[in-house]
Amino acid sequence: MSTNLNIASINTWINTDKKPFIISGPCSAENYDQLYATSKELKSIGIEIIRAGVWKPRTRPGTFEGNGEKALKWIKKIKNELNVKFAVEVANPNHVKLCLNYGIDILWIGARTTVNPFSVQEIAESLENIDIPILVKNPINPDLSLWIGALERLNKCGLKKIGAIHRGFSTPDKTKYRYAPMWKIAIDLKSSFPNLPIVCDPSHICGNREMIHDISQKALDLGYEGLIIESHIDPENAWSDAKQQVTPIYLKDIISNLKIKKKIEKNQNHKILLEDLRDAIDNVDKDLIGVLEKRFDLVKKIAEFKENQDLTVFQVKRWNEIFESRKNWSKEKNLDMKFVEELYKLIHIASIKSQTEILNKK
Ligand code: PEP
Ligand code: MN
Repeated sequence: MSTNLNIASINTWINTDKKPFIISGPCSAENYDQLYATSKELKSIGIEIIRAGVWKPRTRPGTFEGNGEKALKWIKKIKNELNVKFAVEVANPNHVKLCLNYGIDILWIGARTTVNPFSVQEIAESLENIDIPILVKNPINPDLSLWIGALERLNKCGLKKIGAIHRGFSTPDKTKYRYAPMWKIAIDLKSSFPNLPIVCDPSHICGNREMIHDISQKALDLGYEGLIIESHIDPENAWSDAKQQVTPIYLKDIISNLKIKKKIEKNQNHKILLEDLRDAIDNVDKDLIGVLEKRFDLVKKIAEFKENQDLTVFQVKRWNEIFESRKNWSKEKNLDMKFVEELYKLIHIASIKSQTEILNKK
């Protein structure tokens, strides 16, 4: 199913002069002093939008679940004193109502809420025709349709200042990340909706502060518009997500080491060079497809031979030989052996499928 989203240009709701735009602030608003001190330092390093968790979706009960309305009062005061904007997570219409009452500037829907269409629908309806920016975190499970569905529900209720936050996905296997990035899902989202701003949340992807720079850089290299990074005046003693929060000074260091690459080449000579290289890639890809066509013609001949000789389609000895020889050939050409192995798995599976189809027709 394909739809179009009616998306307001991002610079109508965020100052995009600084690239990328950065939202930063504590995982949780713990108390006034912590929130004020963090916000003040963030403002001093040029951050204009502060994030703060007011209601915390904790996996197990019995831990700190946020300060609720009390925190919104602190935010209102800090907004006035420091002249900064605030972004807050909402998970139900009551959260929405309170955020609107306290003048919150940007809302976001958390990963555990995006998974539930009932909750998203209720939030969307509670915001009907209210002109507030809202960002949607990816659902915790790797399901692009759910992510798109949440954006569509908001859009259908008249919200146009929408964007996505890529915060990584739960996987059954342990990885070096807290939540595996699975970049392809976010890239597919961007290809379906090129005007949709995408923000990367390296804090929740990494789960530790050491990897945040590299993941942020990767997001920028992929053309993400912004970053949302958790920061805290005293991360070690944070009440939630302590390992992944950074001090504002550490954040400044991360930002100053990021390389911002242009999306569109402005220099004419560079543009021509890029176009030439793309033409060359197009030609190589045409050749590649031509070679695949030849390979599949041979596969057909093999299928006919096997049919005449009463041989099975799948021959384990040949399967192993293919992997070994291709891996060695790729080594000689300095190609990534793992990549070539994966490629041959796909080719071999397609070849078996095509042979089986030919044999079944007869
Ligand atoms: C958060 O941003 O602190 C949070 C709870 O994130 P997520 O919904 O990505 O788990
Ligand atoms: Mn957090």
